[in-house]
Amino acid sequence: IKISKSYKLASRDFHPDDTVIDIKGVKIGGNNLVVMGGPCAVESPEQIDEIARLVKAAGGQVLRGGAFKPRTGPYSFQGVGVEGLIMMAEAGRKHGLLTITEVMTPEYVDICAEYADILQVGTRNMQNFDLLRKLGTIKTPVLLKRGFSSTYDEFLNAAEYILAGGNPNVMLCERGIRTFESYTRNTLDLAAIPALQQLSHLPVISDPSHGTGRRELVEPMSKASVAAGANGLIIEMHTDPDNSMTGDGVQSLFPDQFANLLKELEQLAALV
Ligand code: PEP
Ligand code: MN
Repeated sequence: IKISKSYKLASRDFHPDDTVIDIKGVKIGGNNLVVMGGPCAVESPEQIDEIARLVKAAGGQVLRGGAFKPRTGPYSFQGVGVEGLIMMAEAGRKHGLLTITEVMTPEYVDICAEYADILQVGTRNMQNFDLLRKLGTIKTPVLLKRGFSSTYDEFLNAAEYILAGGNPNVMLCERGIRTFESYTRNTLDLAAIPALQQLSHLPVISDPSHGTGRRELVEPMSKASVAAGANGLIIEMHTDPDNSMTGDGVQSLFPDQFANLLKELEQLAALV
């Protein structure tokens, strides 16, 4: 085995075949396209229930929603906390969807894993090494978001922490990086999708919502991500984006846009 990089377990040199993570029958990785949809933040039982219904009806497989939100400012809405985990688990169960939610600290890993099927590490915590080490001690799948100023090498080394701890169920998420461009919130690095797949066997998920910060760019960048070979998408969708509790309403699709996009993606995925 040729190992020239600082990471090993995350490398395709070490593990030539694609990792496929099977979560209750939903396969993530390989030739499958998984769609995760939902609000930036869980707001109320009614909100998450209705959005879950719409994600399921559109053909999505995973319900996304933050109960703990990593906000830039301390006075902004911080998420509804553990109550949100319970609301989301209930909505996922009722509508037959897997769930994904963000965990920010090692102390909350166990309770988040009790309620959610996939744990998300946010861009701001990609190098929170204590959190990564803790996630290595469980088997719950982890969606690791790329730090907004991190290289592929740093990203894969962060994944390595989780793998080295003994958790093989890691997916990588390109969610945009900080560049000089200010029209978009971040610059979605499309090349990261094939590059990470060449360097690593782990599934690569694209986040065109945070990757652009603009609703009107989510559809084209979702399609571009699938054309580039993404194993899945994580997309913000809200029934009332203008009144959502985080600023991410501006990048959230309306339910009909989400449903139309999923129909088109199905056709596109068949070609890739
Ligand atoms: C989110 O998914 O709502 C989120 C906070 O993402 P990121 O960590 O990529 O900013
Ligand atoms: Mn968000």
